[in-house]
Amino acid sequence: MGKVLIIGAGGVGNVVAKKCAQNPEVFHEICLASRTKEKCDKIAEDIKKQYGIEIKTAKVDADKTEEVVALIKDFEPDIVINVALPYQDLTIMDACLETGVHYLDTANYEPKDNPKFEYKWQWAYQDRYKEAGIMAVLGCGFDPGVTNVFCAYAQKHFYDEIKTIDILDCNAGVHGHPFATNFNPEINIREVTQVVRHWRNGEWVETPPILEEDSIHFTFNYPEVGPRESYLLYHEEMESLVKHIKGLERIRFWMTFSDEYLTHLRVLKNVGMTRIDEVEYEGCKVVPLKFLKKLLPDPSELGISYKGKTVIGCIFDGIKDGNRFKKYIYNVCDHAEAYKEVQAQAVSYTTGVPAMIGAMLVLKGVWAGKGVFNVEQLDPDPFMDALIKYGLPWKVEDFDGELPEF
Ligand code: NDP
Repeated sequence: MGKVLIIGAGGVGNVVAKKCAQNPEVFHEICLASRTKEKCDKIAEDIKKQYGIEIKTAKVDADKTEEVVALIKDFEPDIVINVALPYQDLTIMDACLETGVHYLDTANYEPKDNPKFEYKWQWAYQDRYKEAGIMAVLGCGFDPGVTNVFCAYAQKHFYDEIKTIDILDCNAGVHGHPFATNFNPEINIREVTQVVRHWRNGEWVETPPILEEDSIHFTFNYPEVGPRESYLLYHEEMESLVKHIKGLERIRFWMTFSDEYLTHLRVLKNVGMTRIDEVEYEGCKVVPLKFLKKLLPDPSELGISYKGKTVIGCIFDGIKDGNRFKKYIYNVCDHAEAYKEVQAQAVSYTTGVPAMIGAMLVLKGVWAGKGVFNVEQLDPDPFMDALIKYGLPWKVEDFDGELPEF
């Protein structure tokens, strides 16, 4: 049915490539390209062994639009899945525009010198993608991604009006390292050291970063894994959801962190290791956070010893036919099972599967449109069905537990 070019061969790229290879009736040709071709070749070898399918591999520096354009012209894909880093979003979007190919990613653009992830740069492509007759699907991982689809589903099936949304992201897994991040350490640490924002009554409200003593947190009793400390955090899907979920009065995002993780990160920050500016060291220019990334475990290699589960979902409070009630939609994913299937931990798995599903829906013409879309603007039903079919089953429950009111 279609040809897919996947850019990025890290933790998530490995899952996307394997999930696409599991569905050759949709993805009849696959090319996996990245900065380090050896990583693509290693994944291609696994795919050949596991599924008997040959995929192509290529070297590309996706910071250079002309390299991506040349690769697209050579391979002629119908869609590009970008699972490199957020820094490459715009150069890859430019290349898709120049060649008339659909685009999909899992994280919004962020300039290297400024840890401000915002959709404004990618939304600015709206008219150009429309005129070119192609589709860009933004933020199609788990969060953003599945959480946005959960919101669209709740809006479509349960509520006339959603008043509040709380997104709760719990990783109750244990990887056996004193300190490691579950996806790219540089991107992860930039995200979690920011000032926190949530949205209420039409404006963004700032609160202290998670490392500060007065950060906002509470204990939530997660299904299957029990109580975990959950910290208020800014997360990118809130920016598009406040635009697209009508009548919303408040949206917050919570993520679990262990004391050990917070202590390590606090020390690293205090000694300057999370800085993103260049430091002169013995005649070399070093960016401390990039150097730290080099020292930390590679997220794509955490899976082998990872035990436990992730539990990510949304709690809605809204009104239907005059009745006010809460619903909880969530997925539970087991690290060890994900590893058994595609040799990846659950954070890579829960990101890679939705990216494959989004691309599949575009190739099948089920998700169709011209322009730039966040996933909650597209029909959630086929995506929700596909989540069950392709490894991320979800549950819906009435919710009568407590959430902090502030
Ligand atoms: P990794 O760091 O494991 O992998 C990134 C890959 O991109 C590496 O193969 C890297 O190559 C490649 N890459 C980096 N720069 C370039 C470049 N200039 N040109 C070509 N390839 C490049 O990250 P993850 O797999 O953990 O994450 C991938 C993406 O998924 C990130 O954008 C992340 O933010 C997003 N994500 C989204 C989530 C969601 O739920 N929405 C959750 C988790 C992650 P090399 O090996 O040479 O460094």
